[in-house]
Amino acid sequence: MKRCLHFLFFLAATVMVAAATNEPFAIRGYYTTFMRMPTFGLPEWKQMIDCMKEDDANFLILWTAGGFRSKAFPVTWRYNAEHKNVEQDYARELIDYAHTKGIRVVLGFTPFAYDGANQYPLEHPELKATQKSGQPANLWGLHAWGYNLCPAEQASQKFMREYVREMFFDFYPNADGLLIESSDYAICYCADCRGKFFDHEFAFVRQISDDVWKARSDALIFVYPRYFSTNQVPEFSVSGSRQKFDPRWSLSFTPHSAPIHDDLAKQARSSVYWNDGLTIGTPAKIRDGAQLARQRGLSGYITSCEPFSCIDGPPGSNKPRLKPFHMTWLRDGEMPLSELPVRVNRIAYREWTRQPALADSAFHEILGRELFGPNAGAQKIQDVLYVQDCWFGEADWFKSPRLHRPADLKQQAEREKWPAERLQPYLDRVKRLREIALRHEHSTNITERQLHDVSAWIVRQWDETK
Ligand SMILES: [Zn+2]
Repeated sequence: MKRCLHFLFFLAATVMVAAATNEPFAIRGYYTTFMRMPTFGLPEWKQMIDCMKEDDANFLILWTAGGFRSKAFPVTWRYNAEHKNVEQDYARELIDYAHTKGIRVVLGFTPFAYDGANQYPLEHPELKATQKSGQPANLWGLHAWGYNLCPAEQASQKFMREYVREMFFDFYPNADGLLIESSDYAICYCADCRGKFFDHEFAFVRQISDDVWKARSDALIFVYPRYFSTNQVPEFSVSGSRQKFDPRWSLSFTPHSAPIHDDLAKQARSSVYWNDGLTIGTPAKIRDGAQLARQRGLSGYITSCEPFSCIDGPPGSNKPRLKPFHMTWLRDGEMPLSELPVRVNRIAYREWTRQPALADSAFHEILGRELFGPNAGAQKIQDVLYVQDCWFGEADWFKSPRLHRPADLKQQAEREKWPAERLQPYLDRVKRLREIALRHEHSTNITERQLHDVSAWIVRQWDETK
């Protein structure tokens, strides 16, 4: 009997653990680069918030630096003067709207680098960071081209603090906190920063956190683990620093720049893992992100929702305006989250953050039911997954997949003397997409229409370059 009870306890414990690993994440939502989406006004943003609500999101990172009309530092948005929120400030209303849907909003920025901040040295070149070679920082950026700053300079510290205080306290005091996203592309190697870069950056992080918590003790502030661990910081081959961790902070981990640190995660108010699954990935990448976050005991899994509509630089590049998710059929400013390839990823995000242990087969069933109703049938589900993969496979932030650019692909194949078998998979894909387009050519079902339209669009690119 005793043994039997033991067994029952064991069984109950196992069931409880299994249930715990399959519960929804406490933090669910998207990372959006608001400042690189200049064409969307408040109506389109409200539609996007509605989509996020449909996806069960309760959290939104709105990367705001460079995307609001700072009065103290107009140079921070001059490059982005055509941004709808710079033209007519609506983000406060947007945040209020998100709150009505139960979505908390934190404002994103990078200390001493990236959009907004990197414009300041255009007027204050003496604050430019130093490269490893000893030369001043190069002009660089994604949409916002400028220079990263040296955080050992008091004037850089003063600028960062005043800029973020203005963003949070003057412009968007209704936001729920900050994401302080430490740079993934550059640090400073001047004599003062060598071996101490992250201590200098941390001085600002500590200060702005105190400023915010003094006014709003409940504010969520996400920081990166590199200030609290001497582990190597990816990308820069330098060590992090050994500052004291304040358990009021939340932590953000990424695959490329901030590996998950289990001990720190346990001390934090909350912790999230991020990947780019929704914007340039597939359901499998979203599944893997959610499952990793759950295995490591984090409170959330966040994915990028970044339909860029900006113009890639440098200034005067004359490049065309980017289309969200490379969907050239969208009108400028048109809300892109209902397009089929994105919708598939959104459903994947909702389902795997709701039940991280969900099996692929169960996901396929849910996907089929949602897109086509009951009895969708395996063929349609396979078609949807295939088209989704053709849309985002090999996609990059600023470049559509090679499959969508047959002329470039053929040139590359010639230049690099590809053997025929390397090109063949692309030709096979076009053949199968042609079959899918034909299969749904006369359908009146809205999802099947989208299946046809997306497949036919890719096939057309090939037919037109023959
Ligand atoms: Zn420096």
